[in-house]
Amino acid sequence: MISLSVIVCSIVQLASSASCPQSIPTVSVVPRCPSNEKEWISAAKRKNCSALENCQTCSKDRSFVYHCVLNKNATELVEVCAPIWYMSDQMCYRHIKFSTASQSEKGEHTTFVMTVIIAVLVILVILVISLLIFIRINWKKNNNSIKPRCEKIAENVYELDELIIESKDDSKEIEKISLDTTRKDVVEEVANFVTMSGKNILCSLKNVVTIRDLREKLSEKESVPLKCLLVVDKENGVLYQDATVFEPCKKERYTLMVGNTNRTQGFKEDGNVHTDVISNKQISHGKCQMCCGHFTVPETLFDWVKDKLPGSGDVELQCPRCSDVWEEEELVKKCNMSEDEKLFLNCVLEVNEKTKKMKQ
Ligand SMILES: [Zn+2]
Repeated sequence: MISLSVIVCSIVQLASSASCPQSIPTVSVVPRCPSNEKEWISAAKRKNCSALENCQTCSKDRSFVYHCVLNKNATELVEVCAPIWYMSDQMCYRHIKFSTASQSEKGEHTTFVMTVIIAVLVILVILVISLLIFIRINWKKNNNSIKPRCEKIAENVYELDELIIESKDDSKEIEKISLDTTRKDVVEEVANFVTMSGKNILCSLKNVVTIRDLREKLSEKESVPLKCLLVVDKENGVLYQDATVFEPCKKERYTLMVGNTNRTQGFKEDGNVHTDVISNKQISHGKCQMCCGHFTVPETLFDWVKDKLPGSGDVELQCPRCSDVWEEEELVKKCNMSEDEKLFLNCVLEVNEKTKKMKQ
């Protein structure tokens, strides 16, 4: 095999050095060389190098014959028609050996790089899987931490039963809830809320994320317009904003305030047009006259009270035009406040009074 390579190398070098240009077009890459004499004869016959004997100028004795050899870089086997070449030393062999050695080094280097890439990929995959597992565990943990939303109720199942019995008189829907769902469902999904005036309202907490969600559920359940169902913090005398996240575990902080659905009821209509002292709009119907003589609309006045007093530290409101003080009683009357609203206004003014004293 070595001697073959030596000869072959010489031939290819001969061919590539263009000293035998007729050899070049005959070079063809093959997957293997003949392994015995029979195959060799057959391949030589197929290559038909003798046909070129007469038109080649490489060999004077016309020894232009079939060869199957390694190419210059010893990476492929080639068939070629070329003169016979006799080597007088081992230079070509050494060249092939060196070339093969450097190729094997290159191969080793490639294998090393591939191993590193695969190792990095495996580490990345492991990291991603770990991250996913971590997220899943955390998600489960969070889910579990949400569960206590009704555990206050679950802690005392008897209390829950009492609530259901108490509320049965108020709402037929309770029967629906207690009959259609198992106790477990009730514990997990339904919570009791208390209004300012002490009425219990059971409400499903399913999909309740914000205060707005809760208001919508309660409004639908109680058939009260959304604007008339507010959630308040009576301890601090403030209203919860719609975007605030509802925290089921701190449910006792939330008190419901059911408002008057028809504030203009009871006010006399004189048909005259006046300017609303708060909104500056022209009003003819559904207006109320304040103690200072200025006019406004009960709904506008209530929104103004709701906007100005809770959390402000103020204990009174003044007419925006004449600065006359509008007392609590006046506000209750002119806003046509419901029982819940009256009680909440009272809480707000008490808290504001305390805040004012603390500031002094
Ligand atoms: Zn006024």
